[in-house]
Amino acid sequence: MKRLVVLGAGESGTGAAILAKEKGYDVFVSDMGTIQEPYRALLEQNGIVWEDGHHTAELILNADEVVKSPGIPLTAPLIVALQEQGTPIISEIEFAARFTNAKMICITGSNGKTTTTTLIYEILRHAGLNVGLAGNIGNSLALQVAHEDHDYYVIELSSFQLDNMYDFRANIAILMNITPDHLDRYNFEFQNYVNAKFRITQNQTADDAFIYWSQDPVIDRELKKLHIGATLYPFGGSEDSGNAAYIRANDLVVQAKPTYEPLVIPTCQIGIQGKHNQLNSMAASIAAQILHIQNKVIRESLEQFQGVSHRMQYVATIRGVKWINDSKATNVDSCWYALEAMTTPTVLILGGKDKGNDYQAIADLVKQKCHTLIFMGLHNEKLIDFFSGFGIPYISTDNLNDAVQAAYHAAREGDTVLLSPCCASFDLFHSYEDRGDQFMNAVKKL
Ligand code: ADP
Repeated sequence: MKRLVVLGAGESGTGAAILAKEKGYDVFVSDMGTIQEPYRALLEQNGIVWEDGHHTAELILNADEVVKSPGIPLTAPLIVALQEQGTPIISEIEFAARFTNAKMICITGSNGKTTTTTLIYEILRHAGLNVGLAGNIGNSLALQVAHEDHDYYVIELSSFQLDNMYDFRANIAILMNITPDHLDRYNFEFQNYVNAKFRITQNQTADDAFIYWSQDPVIDRELKKLHIGATLYPFGGSEDSGNAAYIRANDLVVQAKPTYEPLVIPTCQIGIQGKHNQLNSMAASIAAQILHIQNKVIRESLEQFQGVSHRMQYVATIRGVKWINDSKATNVDSCWYALEAMTTPTVLILGGKDKGNDYQAIADLVKQKCHTLIFMGLHNEKLIDFFSGFGIPYISTDNLNDAVQAAYHAAREGDTVLLSPCCASFDLFHSYEDRGDQFMNAVKKL
């Protein structure tokens, strides 16, 4: 009997353990932290042996194969020991994919993954296909493979998941963009992060599709170096560039192949707004056309989809001021897109746990669009240093209520108040969801 050790018992680890048990493996689960109650109960119900609060090396080093949670860094001592003795370490997605013949539609990128993944899932559902949503969102792929039998899976993949994928093959791979993020996990080498993202194309053949944003300088540079086995579907270039989707005047046009009927939809009819969401809509629509979904179904889905919570989410209009929750903007690039989408004078709330940010990227947009800046964090010094010379009034706060009150008093009728923090949330909140929820509650009480 093959021994499979699962390190980390969150959503993906627990799913992998259950699938492995069903497939007849000798399974052991070990988590350095505390395993949360629902997962603990699932392990018990399935008769899986587990430990938490520590790793017992001798019960782990005897594994034939290890499934590692994406949260555990490759530099963790136990991972190094496993690598040194040559034990294969794989991700939950790699493991689960061995047990299904479903079509795999996989999405990665520095920004836009969740939005694009969810939109594709909605289109496929609207088309009546038997589809599962997996990866960073929804239930783990492994649990779905164990208990449901979908024909298609739409999977959001982080670079950490891709790190431990080897034989997995995406039928459709989508790469939204690559900007510096998570460099602390990649030896501060941007190229390591880039290489991880491009693993989404490994094992692809000409029958498979690689959909990517053609205007991304990093992707462009890599494509000149690499041989990609898949058929290429670039998007977001100019109309005459041969791209599979592009903007023509005020329309979004999608024509994945010259033989396909083009889908033409006015951008104002798309449910999610902003330039970045046009790119997300293009990627999703190309994938749908490749899967032979009718343009009518794609169009209806684009019109109906209202986006995912905490991403440019409309909260309320109070005394003529529109409030937007973009708490998921945890890096500077996503704040850039949020500001770019602003059509009114803006009060921007930003700050939090800085990940080595360079605010230069948003300097011009802040000058063009913002009339007040509200800093919200335990350490606002860097923000004050950078923005205080702009001649734009700023208010420094260290909690959410003060920030919302300050924005309320600064905003004038016709303005937008935008929470798009550029930073992680962990100085004041449990997560970006917690930050967004607290923000929306505070706004609704105004
Ligand atoms: P991810 O899952 O990659 O973090 P999301 O879809 O959750 O991406 O969006 C996170 C934030 O990134 C959004 O709030 C938005 O401001 C920004 N964003 C979304 N799509 C894109 C895109 N295609 N390019 C750049 N920024 C984007």
